[in-house]
Amino acid sequence: MAAISLENLTKRYGDVSANDGITLAVEEGEIFGYLGPNGAGKTTTIRQLLGLIKPTEGTATVLGADIRNRKALTEVKADLGYLPDELGFDERLTGNQALDYFARMRGDQRREELLELFHPPLAKKIETYSAGNRRMLGIVQAFMHDPELVIMDEPTAGLDPLKQDRLHQFLAEEVASGTTIFFSSHILSEVQRVCDRVGIIREGQLVALEDIEKLLDRSGKHVWLHLRDDVVENEFVTEEMINVEITDNAIQFTYTGDYNSLLSHLTSYAIDDIEISNPQLDDIFKHYYSEEFTEET
Ligand code: ATP
Repeated sequence: MAAISLENLTKRYGDVSANDGITLAVEEGEIFGYLGPNGAGKTTTIRQLLGLIKPTEGTATVLGADIRNRKALTEVKADLGYLPDELGFDERLTGNQALDYFARMRGDQRREELLELFHPPLAKKIETYSAGNRRMLGIVQAFMHDPELVIMDEPTAGLDPLKQDRLHQFLAEEVASGTTIFFSSHILSEVQRVCDRVGIIREGQLVALEDIEKLLDRSGKHVWLHLRDDVVENEFVTEEMINVEITDNAIQFTYTGDYNSLLSHLTSYAIDDIEISNPQLDDIFKHYYSEEFTEET
């Protein structure tokens, strides 16, 4: 049984389709990245999965419970953890009091262990917390009852790089021990680091669903070059280069062809500086909206 299964999940607000016929399944024990730019519809999906808003059409199951069935969804909530994008804690409580409140509802057998990794100032009132401290408190409450499935909406927002690393490592360990994680983000590199599989959402629609490695293989590399002389576009650019941008003697592009051909092409130029990296989310979107994507759909 899939831990999460979406079937034509659709949410419309007037003319806006925040989610438009999304179908996908997240298997038990995987860490699934739900990737899309701001406003793509990630939070809308997550809020429907939690039963916080109702689908306009279609449905989904979470740990086997149909999201339209409030009673069934309530029954699985003990096995479910949730880290919302906006943490709606009662600001007047201290961190400790907030955790006590969640503990009474769902249990807290892992609270101490989690607080060794993520340690917000528990004695202080939440109204004094920084964004990073709020997020850490949110992470502790999402995992402390040892859920089977954790749904996280932009979980690293507000965390400093060290804490981000710690969270990524923690998630890898959780998945290794059998927890299922649904992880939304607008940062490709982060999804690439932690996730097995990725679903890309854009303007409410799922535009890709595949293994992260395959997605990156198909998406080419981002190349930035500083040549000694000005770039002559019709001489330099080949058909494997897309999203090309040229300024004087600097050129950047996404390269989708064979890497050996690129290297032999570059030997005819005097290169002052070079950077080759994985493409940004935007470049991948452009790629997906090129002919290949149009043909596939
Ligand atoms: P972000 O990363 O910025 O949080 P997101 O991918 O989570 O973005 P959503 O918050 O799900 O995106 O929003 C998807 C679309 O639905 C946006 O166009 C948003 O304006 C619209 N939308 C979301 N909630 C509502 C609402 N309650 N009423 C009207 N439109 C809404």
